[in-house]
Amino acid sequence: MNHRVVLASNNPGKLREMTQILSDLDIEVVPQSAFGIDEVEETGLSFVENALIKARHAAEVSGLPAIADDSGIEVDALQGRPGIYSARYAGPGATDADNNAKLLEELEGVPEPRRTARYQAVIVHLRHPADPTPIICSGTWEGRILTAPRGEHGFGYDPLFWVPTHGCASAELDPAEKNRISHRAQALACLKQALAERESAGRL
Ligand code: IMP
Repeated sequence: MNHRVVLASNNPGKLREMTQILSDLDIEVVPQSAFGIDEVEETGLSFVENALIKARHAAEVSGLPAIADDSGIEVDALQGRPGIYSARYAGPGATDADNNAKLLEELEGVPEPRRTARYQAVIVHLRHPADPTPIICSGTWEGRILTAPRGEHGFGYDPLFWVPTHGCASAELDPAEKNRISHRAQALACLKQALAERESAGRL
């Protein structure tokens, strides 16, 4: 059975990665832009709250089940900042370059062993806006913040995110490899499993 689900994101980088990772599911993913849905204000104080706010809004407007993610980077030397504020770290309307420049500035003089950081991703699935039992999945990807950008792939903080397991920046990873190991890939793998279980129980 083919299920249509609205994806509550307008970020082209995330859309590309999510569509690719979800492509082998029996689910048709429709971006919220197809319904003219704009980004809603993220007023939560956690990744989970913000993902639920986005999914609820998309489900309400589209009348379809909704998937939303919220993600960001936590830097230990900054007490977990920018965290849920990663997209707007350098201010409203900040570009990736603005955010990366601000991160380098804030970490100036911090030695390599103290530059530990991790990407966090939460993905939720709601069957309808008032779904009392949403699927909530998360993923974490550990790394360190470099002192200068490297690589051309990915988006956001990828040029500054050192991946110790691969010995390169995440922007230097082949995109398919990033989609295999990233925080979002882990959360999506969990989501796929949960959706498959619901489908086989006839509760999708
Ligand atoms: P969101 O749209 O509120 O989830 O914003 C997430 C922000 O976190 C993005 O705009 C990026 O700045 C950052 N981010 C999340 N995931 C990644 C990633 O895989 N690579 C690089 N930056 C990311």
